[in-house]
Amino acid sequence: MRSFGLANPKRRLSNYEIGAVSFAFLLAATVFYLDTFTEIQSALATLYVITLLLSAETLTEKGTLLLAGICIGLSALSYIAGHGLHGDLAAALRLTVAVAAMVITCLLIIRNQRARLALIKFNADLQSSEERYRTIFEQSRVALWERDYSQVRALLMKLRENGVSDLHAHARNNPEFISDCIACVPTVAANAAALELLGHVDARNIKSMRRYIAQDDATFLDLMVAIFNSESYFEGKGAIIASDGTTKLVLLTVGFPEDVANFNRVIVGMFDITEREMAQKALFEAQAELARASRAATIGALSASLAHELNQPLGALVVNAQTLQRWLDRDPPDLAAVSRSAERIVRDSQRASDIIQSTRSLLGRRNPVIEPVSLIDLVSETRALMEGELLRSRVAFETSAASDMHTVNAVRIELQQVLINLITNAVQAMAATPEEHRRILVTIGSADGQEVSVKVHDSGPGLGAEILQNLFKPFCTTKESGLGMGLSICRSMLEARGGTLTAANHTEGGALFEMTMPIEAAVHE
Ligand code: ADP
Repeated sequence: MRSFGLANPKRRLSNYEIGAVSFAFLLAATVFYLDTFTEIQSALATLYVITLLLSAETLTEKGTLLLAGICIGLSALSYIAGHGLHGDLAAALRLTVAVAAMVITCLLIIRNQRARLALIKFNADLQSSEERYRTIFEQSRVALWERDYSQVRALLMKLRENGVSDLHAHARNNPEFISDCIACVPTVAANAAALELLGHVDARNIKSMRRYIAQDDATFLDLMVAIFNSESYFEGKGAIIASDGTTKLVLLTVGFPEDVANFNRVIVGMFDITEREMAQKALFEAQAELARASRAATIGALSASLAHELNQPLGALVVNAQTLQRWLDRDPPDLAAVSRSAERIVRDSQRASDIIQSTRSLLGRRNPVIEPVSLIDLVSETRALMEGELLRSRVAFETSAASDMHTVNAVRIELQQVLINLITNAVQAMAATPEEHRRILVTIGSADGQEVSVKVHDSGPGLGAEILQNLFKPFCTTKESGLGMGLSICRSMLEARGGTLTAANHTEGGALFEMTMPIEAAVHE
């Protein structure tokens, strides 16, 4: 028998309960005495029912059953003591009535106790859930508000009934509409984060949100539209004015209850996104600035490239024009030589025009034309282009084709630009080399059947350790009038088409540049 069958052994019994239980036991003892030792001929045992009723609230289910058992036992004992085992019929009937009354009372008490316990448990659950809700509400770092939207909902529904279908238009035509709506949304409660968001305001000063909603804030109207359209939730970005006058950007979420009756307690969540928005704005600005800077750098690089590339054909034009002049000045003029010079002038002009065209196509992002290019033809064409320069610098030019594979699908002008760059650099590098040793060897070969290579080997001083490291970086130059852009542009141009450009010192001396072009990649393109 757990704790004598008390309903709650840990709880101290009240005076009423102590009195009731004591009285119940006294009554039980009295009834037993009267029933056993007096001659009263009535169902005295039914009075045990009062004992049960008096103890009902204090005892548990088991306690009640036990007490009922004791009372029935006492009644039976009194019967046996008074009448023996062969008592008369009337006494037996009185005992039966008394026992039936006790059993029924006992069952009713147990049923009542169960209902009472269920109610107590339900109340306890409700209380703990309410406490949990309060704790979450109070301690959340998200600003939470409990607002009464019932009035504003009623107002909006009335408008709908009166035929308003476009709330935005209605707000435009009724300038007071928004402030009327704000006045209809009182705040029931706000947590600490919410008060902090508004600038550590007093909870008593936030009954109305009127002074905290920014004048130009369009989100409140959107929120009204969501209620107007009976949507289940609303999410938007809004602006609020804190008590110190600063504007804060907030992410606003409102979940509307399914039951219209609960619109008097709607939870509104606000999250301060001011810093995030500012950081994002700064990021966008930085990106735009970077894009501007990168465009400027590209244009700068292209101008540098143009200047570099045009330098050669323009120089050749001047030389050929001077030569032409000399042939014309002869007496008689050598017209055949004049014609050759004129042809070279036309060719150089064409080249200059091609360079500009290709740069423009790069700028204009038009697709350059990929076509089969014979490297043997390209090298001999380039040699012819640079003939004047080679002659003047007294450089011997040799070519060798070590492979049958010498046609690639490529952009002709690009390959030619690379080749001209390499040859021009080689010529310039040999300025201090004795004339009889100035030599450029261009070899066309194939490394592994997958790519074609063109090597340019000169007999100059070769590449110093430091320059070798930075050769392909923009603006790396050892020349007084150099830009240091040529090799870097050449490498990017080849790499963009799956090719490579590398530099090394040749074992026999001089610099060795090698460009490769993948045959397959070019074909696929
Ligand atoms: P630039 O010709 O304007 O200097 P480049 O990018 O074409 O720019 O060349 C960068 C540098 O690489 C040159 O200044 C030079 O020092 C070095 N260089 C290039 N080709 C050779 C070569 N064949 N021999 C020695 N040095 C070279």
